[in-house]
Amino acid sequence: MPAIPDQTELTLYELSVSGRRGVGLPECDVAQTELPADRLRETNGLPEVSQLDIVRHYLRLSQRNFGVDSGFYPLGSCTMKYNPRVNEALAQLPGFADTHPLTPEAQVQGNLRLMYEMQEWLKEIGGFAAVSLQPAAGAQGELTALLMMRAYHAERGDTKRTQVLVPDSAHGTNPASCTMAGLAALEIPSDARGNIDLGALRAACDESIIGLMLTNPNTLGLFEENLEEVVALVHACGGLVYGDGANMNAITGVLRPGDHGIDLMHYNLHKTFSTPHGGGGPGAGPVGAVASLAPYLPGPLIERAPGVGAFHRYRRMTPAQSIGRMCTFLGNFAMIVRAYTYIRVHGAEGLLQNALHAVLNANYLRVKLRDTYPVPYDRPCMHEFVCQGVIEDTDARALDISKRLLDYGFHPPTNYFPLTVPEALMVEPTETESLQTLDAFVEAMQRIAVEAHAEPEVLHQAPHTTPVRRLDEVHAARHLTLTESDLDP
Ligand SMILES: *Cc1c(COP(=O)(O)O)cnc(C)c1O
Repeated sequence: MPAIPDQTELTLYELSVSGRRGVGLPECDVAQTELPADRLRETNGLPEVSQLDIVRHYLRLSQRNFGVDSGFYPLGSCTMKYNPRVNEALAQLPGFADTHPLTPEAQVQGNLRLMYEMQEWLKEIGGFAAVSLQPAAGAQGELTALLMMRAYHAERGDTKRTQVLVPDSAHGTNPASCTMAGLAALEIPSDARGNIDLGALRAACDESIIGLMLTNPNTLGLFEENLEEVVALVHACGGLVYGDGANMNAITGVLRPGDHGIDLMHYNLHKTFSTPHGGGGPGAGPVGAVASLAPYLPGPLIERAPGVGAFHRYRRMTPAQSIGRMCTFLGNFAMIVRAYTYIRVHGAEGLLQNALHAVLNANYLRVKLRDTYPVPYDRPCMHEFVCQGVIEDTDARALDISKRLLDYGFHPPTNYFPLTVPEALMVEPTETESLQTLDAFVEAMQRIAVEAHAEPEVLHQAPHTTPVRRLDEVHAARHLTLTESDLDP
């Protein structure tokens, strides 16, 4: 008997039946014109499927993916916390979702007020004089800050500064942003406690330095113990200190970077303030600046002016020496609504509790796991910690452990980052996970260590239960398949 085709494996092209449609259009009540032949479904060979086919197809695909809504997702550095549904509900209110970005100011006062209040809250949270909501991602916030630093020095006629100090534990976007800004990244090593090596920093600080990119807590999940000295050294040579604020989830409500000499910082709304990480976008990476750098912020900012009677009027404003726009219109407005909702729901006390809870959860896992998986910088951590995916007397590697975790229903930690730790597994549980979930994760990690001794092949072949098994990652990176026609026949 012929095999019944597995419906779950069919592509939309294979499901296609000539003449089938997913939508019924109403009777046309305007003059019809012929579409150019090269735009037609038939000419382009597009699939013809019913609405039900489409719904099943995409629902099936979505279920093959691992998301924060389907399981524990301790992907270090990414702060994969739960995205509360109330954020979504508010972002979908017609007054927010349906306004055109070019609507005259007078008709979108509510939206502008929301943006203004968001600027004010981020100023308060970070300790800055001004905030621009323009940048669309953390990495774009980095680029923004570097362009502002360059403009600031150039304004003073100080054009010989071309180098940016970047610690070796920094996120890969840091040196990439330097290159994009036309600057050179100069790597600074870490010391034995995971801090910036002060000797190396001192030696590198001179008049060629635009500034330092400082991630605090850093990507090892460690608080920079010499923060004051680091900032003082960079300022003493005329450089500026930019804070990579991706890890603000650990310190929100505890410490304001602007109070500690940080001149500029980006916030990741999709990390700290629970907006979704949408497959690389759309995010938001607002940038805060101290007073001396505020004039360089990308516009438009939203400012408040006296209005009629007791009312205020909100309007767009571009700072005097602005580096220009970083994003079209008013940035990723819907993301700002989501983060605004999150801040409003939690309030100052709630944000502080979230930070403390994130740190508690990370330390709980660190202590529970450190006897099984070596923790190279074993001191109290902030929101995340880095252990090594090595198990004594076995050949199991970080990748094997991560792949096996998928079989147990957990998303793996971040692998092989930071580069300073061999076989790194960077674990960030976030505050939204329960004790039961953390314990289940510990149990899975310990079972994997037992398996590494008893049945090493189970680890080397993992994952066993996912729709796609272990990938050839080198091949995947070298030979990208971006379109259907790139697929081998
Ligand atoms: C996530 C992250 C970034 C980049 O942020 P994106 O919004 O992904 O561009 C930069 N630095 C650190 C430390 C990060 O964790």
